[in-house]
Amino acid sequence: MGGNELRYVHQALDTNWISQYGSNIDEFENSLENYFGSSSHVTVLSSGTAAIHLALRMLNVEKGDFVICQSFTFVATANPILYLNAVPVFVDSESQTWNMCPEALEDAIKYCIQQGKKPKAIIVVLSYGMPFMVEEILQISKKYEIPIIEDSAEALGSKYKDRLCGTFGDFSVISFNGNKIITTGGGGTLISRNAEDKIRALFLATQAKDDMEFYGHSEIGYNYRMDNVAAGIGRGQMDTLEEKIMQRRKNHDFYQDAVKNNENIELFSEPDSNFFSNYWLNTIILKNGLAKENLRTRFSQENIETRYLWKPMHLQPLFQGYKFFGNNLSGTLFETGLCLPSGTNLTDENRSRISEVLQK
Ligand SMILES: *Cc1c(COP(=O)(O)O)cnc(C)c1O
Repeated sequence: MGGNELRYVHQALDTNWISQYGSNIDEFENSLENYFGSSSHVTVLSSGTAAIHLALRMLNVEKGDFVICQSFTFVATANPILYLNAVPVFVDSESQTWNMCPEALEDAIKYCIQQGKKPKAIIVVLSYGMPFMVEEILQISKKYEIPIIEDSAEALGSKYKDRLCGTFGDFSVISFNGNKIITTGGGGTLISRNAEDKIRALFLATQAKDDMEFYGHSEIGYNYRMDNVAAGIGRGQMDTLEEKIMQRRKNHDFYQDAVKNNENIELFSEPDSNFFSNYWLNTIILKNGLAKENLRTRFSQENIETRYLWKPMHLQPLFQGYKFFGNNLSGTLFETGLCLPSGTNLTDENRSRISEVLQK
């Protein structure tokens, strides 16, 4: 917490605006719209998952439709495809950004078209805050006229060629879950590119009430709106965003230094100066056959938590039987990678303990 969160939460309680209306919601949305700029229309919601679900609904994804989805991600990216009884088609990552591989994407699109159905959407993810290959992916989206849902859940503050992530998709998604770079406890936002889409998102997120006096409904809606107390936390958190990005990037500098002479460890880093990552998490790949579980155990013995990288969706029992395009780089990342402590509150003492284990 940064300091102003409690003030806005108090304001909600003092004025008795604790439901899904109130000035914290308006102001949180305003400050996000200021942050992202004029072609971003923000609807704050109860979670990032809800935002992905709404984006798919907005693109008229229905039962049996193909939706292309990055395989290397957290399951929240892919679950909403199943909520709509649509058919996920998974695409592998490339080695530069660990995000969607343009060649494999094009193979997947061609497969769907051969089956007689153009995919309704492409969900691209920004793993651990790293921007994807923006130009290549957007070009394919344009060529085949398939809209992009940009899952920037982890990537608030990241940039590609000085343009903020969250502005690249036809719809973009940010998460404010407790583990993300700023938080509302649970929460997220859908970012639309025009005002009409925002109105439609708000309509679907608040039970799709018809324009009549009481309780008329013609289509399926959801209870997905953020509440005014959570929005108060988010409003306060916005004041801390730049500092938090700086702290996360400092963690990356630390890791760069800690592994610079270590030929067994490769730190995942920006491919070139076009990419600006918020370094939500710092991740490494172990080389020369070293086992990730051994390193994880060594950290654990020192009471330091590390985690595996995402287990790709195409290797999950939940998604057995769905198509996958690529060379399984994402599977190799899962086999050989580890997430290292990356919180904004890491102290120098924490860092030297981490560094010691890495050296050993
Ligand atoms: C956290 C996360 C989500 C889901 O966000 P919630 O707010 O937790 O529902 C979706 N995609 C990715 C890549 C995430 O990391």
